[in-house]
Amino acid sequence: KQEGRNTYRLFRAEMHRQDHHWLELETALRNTAETGEGLEVNYQPLFDRDSGILQGAEALLRWHHPAFGQVSPVDFIPLAERSGLILPLGARLMRLVAGQLRDWLAEGLAPPRVAVNLSARQFWQSDLVAQVRTLHADYGLPRGQVGFELTESILLDKQQQAIHTLEALREMDCRIAIDDFGTGYSSLSYLQDLPVTTLKIDRSFIQGLGESLGSAAIVAAVTGLAKELGLEVVAEGVETEAQREALARYHVNLIQGFLTGRPVTAEGFAERYLAAEIP
Ligand code: C2E
Ligand code: CA
Ligand code: CA
Ligand code: CA
Repeated sequence: KQEGRNTYRLFRAEMHRQDHHWLELETALRNTAETGEGLEVNYQPLFDRDSGILQGAEALLRWHHPAFGQVSPVDFIPLAERSGLILPLGARLMRLVAGQLRDWLAEGLAPPRVAVNLSARQFWQSDLVAQVRTLHADYGLPRGQVGFELTESILLDKQQQAIHTLEALREMDCRIAIDDFGTGYSSLSYLQDLPVTTLKIDRSFIQGLGESLGSAAIVAAVTGLAKELGLEVVAEGVETEAQREALARYHVNLIQGFLTGRPVTAEGFAERYLAAEIP
């Protein structure tokens, strides 16, 4: 009993500290959303499996705080979503990405299409389509230079409205991927109505390739479905040669993961993947 009470008190104290921590983190994040300080974008390449040709990049937000150090997006993105700070942060990220693309184009480099992750709140902004149009215009980017990744749950929420927004984005040639595909528990019938371009198979299934028959079955099912619907398939989180070989058997042509390239800074990305052609 005694011990139980102590444990309880300890637990309370721990919770209290944690609440405090989250509050501090949120204040810091609010500050960062306002100033942009400590925010950086990393880019992870996406390749054609067969030819090794660069086919795209995913923009991933990084946050460095002077006191907290490097904070993982796994921690600060959910916080940003809960607090609504994802809107100013997301707007900042988009401008950082667009500015970077403009600079690369001005340097004569040929950056690939860049995919930006959108959370529900961002996707449901009534002026999202206008924002994306303005972004391309302001930075002088070719149509569809910036695309998006969304999770299934977002698209299933208000399907008719989602279709409208997606159609408008597709009219601008934006690529739209369903992220973490296969992890939702939804029926697949909705897919035929959604104007998306890409299914991005969740890392968990790629990691399970060669380990569990279930993962292989899911990869096979997703690729079969994508073929029928005319969608491209990306495997994310590819870490080993064995996984890449397995993906060849299922004719997955686009791969992203530590095997072919980790997320790197813009400078690193340009150096490694956008080297200017030698005349
Ligand atoms: P995600 O969209 O599924 O992004 C892929 C995550 O997997 C990234 O983690 C990436 O670094 C990691 N990854 C890539 N290849 C591999 C691999 O081969 N093995 C392993 N183990 N991991 C790999 P990161 O950058 O920590 O981002 C985590 C999540 O945070 C993202 O998952 C995304 O949901 C969210 N996120 C990151 N940046 C943004 C953003 O700008 N906006 C929004 N809304 N969410 C973001
Ligand atoms: Ca993603
Ligand atoms: Ca993903
Ligand atoms: Ca994920």
